[in-house]
Formats: sequence, structure tokens, C-alpha cells
Amino acid sequence: MIATLARIVGPDNVDASPAARVTYSVDGTVGYRGAPAAIVFPGSGQEVARVLKAAAEHGWPVVARGGGTSLAAGAVPPEGAIVLSAARLTHGPDINPAELEAACGAGVTTGELQSRAAALDLFYPPDPSSQSVTMLGGNAATNAGGAHALKYGVTRDYVSALEVALASGEIIRVERGTGTEPLLDLFIGSEGTLGIVTELRLRLLPAPPDARTVAAHFETVHAAAGATLTILNAGLVPARLEFMDAVAICAVQAARDRGLAGVRAVLLVEFDGRPEIVDADIDRAAGLLGPVAIRLIVPRTPAEEAAAWEPRRAITASLARLKPGKLGEDICVPRTAFPDAIAAIERLAAEMDLEIALFGHAGDGTIHPNIVFDPDDPAEVRRVHEAMAGIARIGIELGGVLSGEHGLGLVKKDFVPLMYDQATIARMRELKRQFDPVGVLNPDAMWPAPA
Ligand SMILES: Cc1cc2nc3c(=O)[nH]c(=O)nc-3n(C[C@H](O)[C@H](O)[C@H](O)COP(=O)(O)OP(=O)(O)OC[C@H]3O[C@@H](n4cnc5c(N)ncnc54)[C@H](O)[C@@H]3O)c2cc1C
Repeated sequence: MIATLARIVGPDNVDASPAARVTYSVDGTVGYRGAPAAIVFPGSGQEVARVLKAAAEHGWPVVARGGGTSLAAGAVPPEGAIVLSAARLTHGPDINPAELEAACGAGVTTGELQSRAAALDLFYPPDPSSQSVTMLGGNAATNAGGAHALKYGVTRDYVSALEVALASGEIIRVERGTGTEPLLDLFIGSEGTLGIVTELRLRLLPAPPDARTVAAHFETVHAAAGATLTILNAGLVPARLEFMDAVAICAVQAARDRGLAGVRAVLLVEFDGRPEIVDADIDRAAGLLGPVAIRLIVPRTPAEEAAAWEPRRAITASLARLKPGKLGEDICVPRTAFPDAIAAIERLAAEMDLEIALFGHAGDGTIHPNIVFDPDDPAEVRRVHEAMAGIARIGIELGGVLSGEHGLGLVKKDFVPLMYDQATIARMRELKRQFDPVGVLNPDAMWPAPA
């Protein structure tokens, strides 16, 4: 395998050292570990296609890897697999301001595109919190969302064209607005199970001239959940509407005093657009939130604005201080079911004797229940897995979906039958066989083995 790969990409671009095999055995998901045989770093779409062709001929599993930030264990390789890294597919981003488009390799980070676009007064809205390391190919493969999804949509809404390498060794180009559009949509969110994205053309927007936030502190998470509906029902469309619950707040307070002592829930409501419209929206939102919140903060300067968002950004790092393990769950429920989902997950946490922090994109119903635990305590690990199943059930019973934005990967695939019937799963498997007859592309991800 290593000799074949070296012939395709050059010996310097294959790494089968023990250090690399350990490093690439995991992604962002605690508790999931694979055992790759080699990591390969192709430098072009042609090289990716040749690696895939060789893998299909020999029956070697291949797992594409972008930034390795998957929280669904989507980039965890099966034993003996090739990990195919996009780290050298970094040409671009070539930004065309007149066409509001950017072209780039799959290995360009989301953060780089965002900052290069911002320098030209342009805006790339999909913003997973992992944006500084996550790659655009990985974002397309997971259909990544982010806080801006409420107003601006998710990665799918910004992909104009893809170049994809197939297991057959062919390379295809699919484009929105043409007859190939259905194929384009198949690849987005397919988690490296149908083909490997090598290049993207992405839509940009003019940057909104102004964006400002009102932060509201609450005595209960239920008051915050209710206030979310009040804002949306009033016809306001925030650019971002984020929430954090008491467990998340306690964690960030314990790490450093951020002025949140006694606060049980926080809502961050951001509006963007022309300054006069932002002013009017902030005033209306403050009027609606004032009577139900215990404190309102309306930042007046960029520094105050950054300070208002800082606790939300600090959640992940602060939770890591509570216990060594953390599983970032991800469900999405209809926005009207948001208060019920919060209450049901809180009950589950109490029943399971687990600490579960709740935060996420309240405006579109995406909740990230983050379970902290000790991976060396088998009883606690068992309860964590039961809680994950419980959270999946809560999402589905309330009319939601298994994943808001992280995808199915290895983590959610066992819950897939809760949501889709066997006929649907069988059709999805058939679709995979069309693109990957030997079954080498991320073979364990997304769909459970046939019943
Ligand atoms: C702290 C943190 C915060 C996060 N916040 C968010 C968030 O707000 N919103 C959100 O949506 N997600 C979030 N995530 C999850 C994760 O960042 C996203 O799923 C992201 O899109 C993964 O991109 P990646 O480049 O890291 O891909 P990887 O983790 O490397 O891979 C993810 C999946 O895509 C496949 N893949 C990767 N590259 C390609 C390619 N070129 N072609 C085909 N398949 C490929 C992999 O095989 C795997 O199945 C977060 C993760 C972390 C750690």
C-alpha cells in the first residue's frame, strides 16, 4: 500500500510512522479511535483520483480528512485505512469581487476564506465555531452550519460548484444552476462516503455594514427559551441568536469571573445590516427582552461587543476543565419545541446523574448538549452512551432531526433507524454503491450495517 501511494504522491507525501498513525487515529470526538495504516497528502485532484482508484482496486478503505474537527467521529478511520488529508489542496482562495465568488482547494480553511473576503468588504456566512482550523472541503462534506445559519443558511446555500474525485478514478465537476445540480447536492453532506471534494467555488455576499448585539441574562433557561420565541414571533430576524444554560455559565465562571454569577441563562441576539436598521432592531429586541430578563447589556463599542460574546466562545475550553472527557451532542428541533427540548434534556441529565451543558443556535433550534465525563469510569461512560440515545429520541419525538450540523459519522449512525425506515436506508446504501461499488469510501460512516 505504501509503495503504491508513494508512486502516486511521492514518498515525502505518505506517512506511515507510528506517530502519524496515532495522530490521525482520532478527530474531534472523544472516545472514538481508529487505526489507519497510512496517511497520504495528495497535491492535486488528479493525485486524489489516482489514490482512490488504487484503493478501490485493492479494497483499501479511504477516509478523507480536512481539519479533523468532526464531532461525529466522521474522520475516524477504520483499521488498516488510508487517511487522505486535504492539507496540500490549498490553492486560493481566488476571490472575484465582481462575481461575488471564491474558488479554492478543499484544504483552505474556512477562517482564511472569511478573513480574505472581509478584507474586500465581502462576507462568507457559514461559520462553524471551529472555523480557524476546519477546511472548506470538510465543511461541504458535512454541510456545516454555524451561528449565522438562522439568517444566512448553511454551507449548501453557498456552494456553487464542486470538483469531486470518485472511487472509479474519475474526476467530475458539478455546478448549481445546471443539469448537474442534483449531483452537487448529493455530495454536500455525504461525509466522504460518495467521493472526495478537491475544489470548490463558493458564493460570497457583500459584508453587512454594521452588526451589533444585545445580551440578555435570565433567572431560568426556560425564560430564555421563551424569549427566543418572542423575538422570532415579533418578525425580527437576528443574524445570530445564541444561548447558553446554567451548566455552561458555571463552567465559564469557574474558569474566570466573567460577571455572570447568579445568571442561569444567557441569550446573545445580534442584528446586522444598515446602521439605522440595526439601531431599530436592537431597540425592539431590548423592548421585548427587558421585561423578562434580569439584565440587558447593549454594547456600545467593538471592545464591549467582543466582551459580550467572549463567554459563549469560552464554553468549550471551560468545559474541558470540569472533566477530562466531553461529548458534543447535536440535535435540531422545530423552534417552537425549543423550550420543551431544553426541559426534557435537563430531566434526562438529572435521571442519568450526568452534567450536561446546553448551548447552541437557539434561533434555528440547534442544541449542543455537551456531556462531560470521565473516560476512565466505565459506569459513567455507559451512562453517557445511554444519554446520547436519550437525546436522539428527544430530538426526534419533538419533530426534530438527529443532527443539526455535525452530521451522522460513527456517532449517530446507530440512531439512524429511529429516524428513517429500512426502505429509506436501503435506498441510501444503493446510492452509495453507485458511486463506490467496492465500499472503500468512509465505509463505516453514516449508515448502519443492514439489519
Ligand atoms: C470546537 C468545535 C466547534 C464546532 N462548531 C461547529 C459549528 O458551529 N457548526 C458545525 O457545523 N460544525 C461544528 N463543528 C464540527 C466540525 O467542525 C464540522 O463538522 C466541520 O465542517 C468539519 O470540517 P473538517 O475540515 O474539520 O472535516 P473533518 O473533521 O476532517 O471531516 C469531517 C467529515 O467530512 C469528510 N471530509 C473531510 N474532507 C473531505 C473532502 N475534501 N471531501 C469529502 N469528504 C471530506 C470526512 O471524511 C468526515 O466524514 C465543531 C467542531 C469543533 C471541534
